[in-house]
Amino acid sequence: QYDTIYLGYQTRAMTLSQPMKAFLLEYGGEFSNKEIAPFLSEGGYGSGDSTELIREFIARDGGKNKKVDWTFVGPENALCVGITDKFNEAGQKIFGPNQRAAQLEGSKDYALRFMNKYDVPTARHETYASAETCIEGLKNFDYPLVIKEDGLAGGKGVTIAQNQDVAEETIREMFAGGQTAVVLEECLVGPEYSMFVVVSEDQFTILPMAQDHKRVGDGDKGPNTGGMGSYSPLPQLKKEDRQRMIDEIVKPTMNGLVQGNYHYCGILYIGLMMTENGPKVIEYNVCLGDPEIQVVLPRVKNDFAQVIDAAVNHEKLPEIEENDSSILGVVVCSKGYPTHPAPNVKIGKLPHGTNTYIDYANVKGNLNNLIDDGGRLFMVILEADNLVQAQDNVYSYLSKLDLPDCFYRHDIGNRALRD
Ligand code: ATP
Repeated sequence: QYDTIYLGYQTRAMTLSQPMKAFLLEYGGEFSNKEIAPFLSEGGYGSGDSTELIREFIARDGGKNKKVDWTFVGPENALCVGITDKFNEAGQKIFGPNQRAAQLEGSKDYALRFMNKYDVPTARHETYASAETCIEGLKNFDYPLVIKEDGLAGGKGVTIAQNQDVAEETIREMFAGGQTAVVLEECLVGPEYSMFVVVSEDQFTILPMAQDHKRVGDGDKGPNTGGMGSYSPLPQLKKEDRQRMIDEIVKPTMNGLVQGNYHYCGILYIGLMMTENGPKVIEYNVCLGDPEIQVVLPRVKNDFAQVIDAAVNHEKLPEIEENDSSILGVVVCSKGYPTHPAPNVKIGKLPHGTNTYIDYANVKGNLNNLIDDGGRLFMVILEADNLVQAQDNVYSYLSKLDLPDCFYRHDIGNRALRD
């Protein structure tokens, strides 16, 4: 029997579907050796945002040590700075890739080199180490052109430039902002899909697929964001196309992880696009990500904790079974997001809705008096028998909210339902 703790934006989503009996920790921000040391020796301590919650959890046990079966890492920054390596050294089981493998998300250039080496299809690309060489490199690409910061940027480090002036300005800004490398990429065209793969060494199993909506405005207008809404399942995705994604993307990726001795144990997210030349990788992430996971996990029939348990213990991974429910979620943001989100927007208390779940993100205060803490505030998630109903119900709930300083997209799910 596991101890139970749910922390953080994504891990809370897990409770929507099933009562998980697992010890889940979401580490907020960076951690220091000093901060995690007590966790390693005593079995229950965290850092950053989650510290207080974990303390509370331990306190409920009267200060006695909890037996920690394994730790599930939420955010990518903890993985990128090597939390898994530390836990492994201390003989603690942990679900999340090691620091070397986490570079697949931490550096776009690293991920692209991995894809080149192991024949994983992606966009034509080139990495540059200075603004001058990057601007010089523009002549090798057409417009629209995708320009990416090499390092982590929370979904906002990508610009799609329509012309040379914008491209040059973007490149200069990225380097001036501290980037040491910038990637230019051919702009792919096609529907975008999100695939979460549970990986344990040479084994993998795939969670239900979802579609995110990256651009801030209706009709996919405006800048990229961390994600404005999502839904699952994907009625428009043909079975044979899903199979191509497995054969042409997942299998060579797995081959690379095994051949490259990555000892990957964790979630591998593959953002991909179905182009007219087949599926291509847009990016890898090394952990769960919103806003898709909120609509993915409730569709998993298996006990997710058992799946993770099998992964950390290198036992046979079960096939993921999907249930028949349809889930659709819409993210509510403060006006001006992502460039200039209005500060201190009052939200108050959100009403109860049938089969409606609220996943809180950047909010503070308490549930009766919520105040925004910048950008994406919360996500309204609806479960229904079909997507049309889920979409109708989500927008009916949202239309009753009186939040003049907030906004959301009005077309989440349209690509499945109306295109
Ligand atoms: P995330 O927060 O999702 O990790 P990120 O900053 O790592 O985002 P990417 O996922 O690489 O950035 O790109 C963000 C979005 O930009 C993609 O979801 C896609 O919509 C668009 N995009 C990225 N690369 C391309 C490309 N080569 N062609 C077309 N669109 C692209």
